Amino acid sequence: MQKEFYPFPDKASSMQILQRDPCYFKIPADEVPAVFERAWNTGLKEANRFFSTVTPDDDFMTEALSARGITVKAFDSDYVVGNTRFFCEYLSEKNIVHVYRDAITVWAETNGFTYRDSLNLILAHEFFHHLEWHVIGLVSKQYLVPMLRIGRFSIGKTGIAALSEVAANAFANRIYLLGTQQGLFDPPVEAV
Ligand SMILES: [Zn+2]
Repeated sequence: MQKEFYPFPDKASSMQILQRDPCYFKIPADEVPAVFERAWNTGLKEANRFFSTVTPDDDFMTEALSARGITVKAFDSDYVVGNTRFFCEYLSEKNIVHVYRDAITVWAETNGFTYRDSLNLILAHEFFHHLEWHVIGLVSKQYLVPMLRIGRFSIGKTGIAALSEVAANAFANRIYLLGTQQGLFDPPVEAV
């Protein structure tokens, strides 16, 4: 029997990403839910807006990236640094997305996704980072905390990097939901 599951970071695991941010402790505990929701909802809102412009076909994310002048460069390699496997990276200044095919293949096989669906999801996440850099502004800057505190004095302000990841995950989540409704994603086969 096929089980419904979504192996990409969901809302709960995105909260954990925020909690692991080195600046997390600088957010007052009672403000955390609102800070998180604001970032998450930014991703959902942008996904709704974006999806209404999409041509619903197999390579809809690759096409959307090309239409925005983003170059997708694919490498036939895996990319593992320490304990982390990178599938993709977005080089904001150059507007280039690097795709590591072997890494995506491993992820797809582990999670019972087709390569095409995995790529569309991963590109959706990176596309959101493109929106942040070139259209809507960085979600990491939605909440600023002092960079350094010495006694009573705060020096500088910095954003919270994990908020960008929270929003990009929300974006990919919503694209998956909307795409599934349009038959753009195959139901995942349960991974063994
Ligand atoms: Zn990201």
